[in-house]
Amino acid sequence: MEDWDFKTIIEPFRIKMVEDIPILTRAQREANLDRVGHNLFRLQSSEVTIDMLTDSGTGAMSGNQWGALANGDESYAGSRSFAQLHQVVRRLTGYQHIFPVHQGRAAERIMARTVLPPGKVVLNNTHFDTTRANIEQAGAIAEDIPVALAHDPATTDAFKGDMDLDALELALATRRDEIALVMLTMTNNAVGGQPVSMANIEAVSARCRAAGVPFFLDAARFAENAWFIHTREPGYADWSLHQIARRFFELSDGCTMSAKKDGIVHIGGLLCTNKDDWADLFRNELILGEGFITYGGLAGRDLAALAVGLDEALDPGYLRYRSRSIAYFAEGLESVGVPVVRPPGGHAVFVNAGALLPHIPPEQFPGQVFAAAMYLEGGVRSVEVGSLMFPEAGLELCRLAVPRRVYTQSHVDYVIEVAARVAAKAASLRGYQIVEAPPFLRHFLATLAPL
Ligand SMILES: *Cc1c(COP(=O)(O)O)cnc(C)c1O
Repeated sequence: MEDWDFKTIIEPFRIKMVEDIPILTRAQREANLDRVGHNLFRLQSSEVTIDMLTDSGTGAMSGNQWGALANGDESYAGSRSFAQLHQVVRRLTGYQHIFPVHQGRAAERIMARTVLPPGKVVLNNTHFDTTRANIEQAGAIAEDIPVALAHDPATTDAFKGDMDLDALELALATRRDEIALVMLTMTNNAVGGQPVSMANIEAVSARCRAAGVPFFLDAARFAENAWFIHTREPGYADWSLHQIARRFFELSDGCTMSAKKDGIVHIGGLLCTNKDDWADLFRNELILGEGFITYGGLAGRDLAALAVGLDEALDPGYLRYRSRSIAYFAEGLESVGVPVVRPPGGHAVFVNAGALLPHIPPEQFPGQVFAAAMYLEGGVRSVEVGSLMFPEAGLELCRLAVPRRVYTQSHVDYVIEVAARVAAKAASLRGYQIVEAPPFLRHFLATLAPL
C-alpha cells in the first residue's frame, strides 16, 4: 500500500454478493414525497435509488464477518462470542469493564439513568441527537462547547471537531459541582463529521483529571478519527492506527459506542469504563433493560461479527480508500456548484444548504429543502442536519452519508450529477413549514409542507 502511486484509489475489495437498486420514475418520486410529508425517514427503502440517509448499520460486512457470524455462540451466559469481543475491545481500548448493548443509544440511556442526576450538566464538543435526548430525558442538562471554528463551514482547519478548552476551563473553575461528566464525540457528527485532535483529547483529559470529573468518549467513529490523527496531526504519522486508538481510549474513563458505524455491523454498541463504581450501576441497569452482561441485547453472532469488524475498521488501506472516496465526492459536488463543509469529514459530505439556498431562512429548513430536492431529482436519500434536527446547531446542512464498503465510484458520480441538477434549480426551490412534530428527536417523524 505504501508505494501506491496511482491517482485512482480503488475500492480495496471486490463484490461477491449483490443487491438490486430500485429505479423509479419522477412521477413516482413526486407522489412518494407527498405521501410521506416530505420527510425522507418515512420512505420505504424500495422507493430509494441511492440511500445516503445514514452510515449507521448500513455497511457491508466482510466474508470474515459473515464467517464469524455463522460461528456465533448463542449461550445465554458466558458466550464464547462475548469472550472474543471482550478480548478485541480490551486490546483496542484497555478498558476494564466492557458491556455490549444493542446500539449506541442504549449505552447513553444506561449512563443517563444511572450516573447523571437531574440538574447536573454534561459538557460535550457537540452532543449527538440521541445523546442529548437521553441526557435531557433523565433531567440532566446537555451543553455543547465546540471550538468557534466548528461553525465556519469554509475554513479548512484539520480538527474542527475539537472542544473549546477555554469554555471547559471556565466551567470547571466556576461550576465544578454542577458538572457530572465531560464527553468528546469523535468524530463530531453534528458539525460536519469533523475529527478531534489528539492534542485536544489530551488537554480535555488532563483538565478533567485535575478537576476530578469523569471523561468519556462517544466513540462511534473512533477509526475514522484515528485516521485523521494519523494523517493530519504532526507526530502521529509513524504511529499505527491501533496505537493511536489505544492512546485516546486510555486518556478517557470510558466510552459509549454505536458499533453500527466503525464496528461495521448492522446492530450493536458498547458501554465501557474503568470506573468500578459506575460499572456496578451500569451492570444492574444493563440486566434490567438490555439483557445479561455477556450479550447485552444482542445475539451471540452479532458479538462475533463485531469482534472482527472493529479490527477491519482500523485497516489503513480501507481507511485511506474511505477518506479519499469521501474527498472525491466533496470535490465533485463543489465542481458542480454545490457548497460543502470543508474539509470533508470521515463518513459523509455535508452540503451547506444555507449557502446554496440563501433565500430560504433557517426556520424554513433549507437543509430539508435540499434533501427533498435530491430525492425528487434522482431518488437520492439524505438527511437534514440543521434547524430541524439540531435547533442549536447554527448551520443549515444536508448530510449525504456514505455507507461503508457499499457504493462504488459510479454511484458517487451519479449522485454528483443529481446534485448538479438541484443546484441549477436552486433559486426556484421553496421552504418548508412543520405540519406535525413529536417532542423529542422530531426530525425522525415530523411531517412538512412546502410554503
Ligand atoms: C449513531 C450515533 C449515536 C447513537 O447510536 P445508535 O447506534 O444509533 O443508537 C451516538 N453518537 C454518535 C456520534 C453517533 O453517530
